[in-house]
Amino acid sequence: MICPTCGGECVQPAEKVLDEIFGMYMACASCQPEPSFNKSAPFHEKIDSESGRCKKCGRRHIDFVMGNVLTLLKENGLFPEESALKEVGTPLISFGFQVPYPPRLGKKSLVLIMDSVTKELAGKIVAEVPEVKGVIKRKGSQSQSVGILDTGATPHTYELLSGCDMRCDVVSSIFGEFCIYKNQSMIHIEFNNSKIRELERLYLNGDLDNSSVLDGFCGPGTLGLLSVAGGARKVIFNDAWLPALRNTILNIRANSGILGVDIESETSGQNKLIGDEPVLLAKAGGKAEILIYHGDIRKLEVKDCDICLIDTFPSINPAGFIPLCREMAKKIVVI
Ligand SMILES: [Zn+2]
Ligand SMILES: [Zn+2]
Repeated sequence: MICPTCGGECVQPAEKVLDEIFGMYMACASCQPEPSFNKSAPFHEKIDSESGRCKKCGRRHIDFVMGNVLTLLKENGLFPEESALKEVGTPLISFGFQVPYPPRLGKKSLVLIMDSVTKELAGKIVAEVPEVKGVIKRKGSQSQSVGILDTGATPHTYELLSGCDMRCDVVSSIFGEFCIYKNQSMIHIEFNNSKIRELERLYLNGDLDNSSVLDGFCGPGTLGLLSVAGGARKVIFNDAWLPALRNTILNIRANSGILGVDIESETSGQNKLIGDEPVLLAKAGGKAEILIYHGDIRKLEVKDCDICLIDTFPSINPAGFIPLCREMAKKIVVI
């Protein structure tokens, strides 16, 4: 598969990722022990792109990578000498899962979200720190959701300053494991798994079996894809935010072998970032019938679904959508 953002190898089929992920960040027998840097204290080490690198596997501990970035930031005068490692930013591993140990990183395996960085320095970081594949500048506060709150709102996105922001999270559920890819500068970061537990509850109740599901605020498609895995016969994805839907389509492709569905047609759509009148963007078939709409859910003419999933941003009250969704589905599930 080709990464739609950079043309590189950021997107791999889910089977391949799942085969490799448990060893992906593990120290080899020759890796050096933990560097035990204090992340909160002023960091005075000078770390270059070879510091701490294992001669056998070529990877290094995440703290060396962050130290390398911090050294560059200090050398270029953006960060004061007294800065600590933890001030650099938020590191997100390219193939994310709950790694039970500090990850050892190989080439192009980290996307960095930073609060203070310039475009020029971001370019330098991506060029000179081999593990970093992309640098994103955070805008607004950490708690502010990335994406759109409503179809009338201005989108809140982070800025991809250099490299590629495509990464995936491995989602574990009783239906199995899947890879959910996302352009991290455009898609809200999810930290909790409670939404997946909610869907598992539906499955255990027998509600998903042979059902039709409307994933009304689908984002990169996690819940709709899990519905397919849980036995739904038809899933309608809808979102007003085009970048999320492009990721949904990519995720159907990346998980196609596991889910038994594949994209049958895809249009370029209306090419507006925020949809209004719903446009059918793509169709998939196989084990389930899948329709992907770009538009305002209030204008989506869907009736007779079994389940409508409402998964809005934390700052949005989902109650406003319930009467509308009642007209579309027998059962409303606020996730
Ligand atoms: Zn890429
Ligand atoms: Zn090693």
